[in-house]
Amino acid sequence: MIRVLRGNLISAPRLGKLDVVERGYLVLEDGVIQGVFDKLPETFATAPVTDYGEQLILQSFADMHLHAPQYPMLGMGMDLPLLDWLNTYAFPTEARFSDPDYARGVYRSLAGELIANGTTRVCMFSSLHTESTWVLMEELERAGVTGYVGKVNMDRNGAPGLLQESRSESVRETIRWLDGCRFEHVKPILTPRFTPSCSNELMTELGRIAAQRGLFVQSHLSENRDEIAWVRRLHPDCGHYWETYDKFGLWKDHTLMAHCVHSDEAERAAMRRSGVAAVHCPNSNVNICSGVCPVRQMLDEDVWVTLGSDIAGGDQLPMYRVITAAIRASKNRSIMDKWTTDFLTVEEAYYLGTTSGHRYFGAGEGFAAGDRLHAIVVDDSDLPPGGGPLSLIQRFERVIYLMSSRNITAVWSDGRCVAKKM
Ligand SMILES: [Zn+2]
Repeated sequence: MIRVLRGNLISAPRLGKLDVVERGYLVLEDGVIQGVFDKLPETFATAPVTDYGEQLILQSFADMHLHAPQYPMLGMGMDLPLLDWLNTYAFPTEARFSDPDYARGVYRSLAGELIANGTTRVCMFSSLHTESTWVLMEELERAGVTGYVGKVNMDRNGAPGLLQESRSESVRETIRWLDGCRFEHVKPILTPRFTPSCSNELMTELGRIAAQRGLFVQSHLSENRDEIAWVRRLHPDCGHYWETYDKFGLWKDHTLMAHCVHSDEAERAAMRRSGVAAVHCPNSNVNICSGVCPVRQMLDEDVWVTLGSDIAGGDQLPMYRVITAAIRASKNRSIMDKWTTDFLTVEEAYYLGTTSGHRYFGAGEGFAAGDRLHAIVVDDSDLPPGGGPLSLIQRFERVIYLMSSRNITAVWSDGRCVAKKM
């Protein structure tokens, strides 16, 4: 079925480039974008039109790193560094997800909040619990969120008796979980928590499973200096943190690595060579005192950079807040670098929070023909008066900085309208 959406269309096909079509037309056939036009082509003249008036139609967001079972502790424990924060807050909170009924309530509200804030694609960590991970996938599917979810693997340095598996249990449960994943829009991704959490034997098994089943892998990399020193002690044969994944076959195309704050030039080159994507999580990096990621340098070196909320190390779930946090982090980096590096512009950070993440799922550039539509409709009429008529670019910038979920009036995910307020 053909249908047409009309409104002010703004997308970011490439880093730093915006495509803007004022009062344009986006044509869909069965949820698949046929094209964006400033005048409606004759062939589509009889198709039904949903007219969003003066509202903005933007790309929806892709949150490429977050921990679903940390949602209950959002905004807490922010004065602790990573390793203390994990032991004091994160592990006890995640342990509660041994109860799938508890998980149901938390995950239903998380999935609803993601859609309300315009996040339609995710790469997400669950806890180590198989049943609750299925519950998470079900609730995302129900709300209209798409993407990848991983049952976490951790057989050492967790919280024994509370949140840790034996190696054989971890492998057995991972296979049981994978065999039970039958969701249309939410797929499994292998998720060793991070190198200190997984024995060499477990990593070997995970590498084998990834190869046998053709699965993508997500984990953490070079987030914090104490963590990096610890990894070095655990793997004295590896010169770099990334090699501790590579030696087990987990460092490959589409491996997703959160943070990479302290990755040096050699580690960044390894990412580029292998098609590994970095997930920059600016709020988390500041909150748990990890550092300020050199994002501009990574982009200049052609590293694939995406954005993540990293709740609950990050305190903000909405990706428009993560986008502005990425801009602020890069400005801090420029100050630290004595202005030898340029900071991220609004257009660039929006690209990282949209197209760069959507690419992970096979999408093209911006509102590309042939892609299933992922979009949000934004009513900015209640934002502060701009002191005169605003251009679409000015409205776009103001929306990215100031919008909240109340401004999002419709959400399209995988070609379906999954939320609307009108
Ligand atoms: Zn994380």
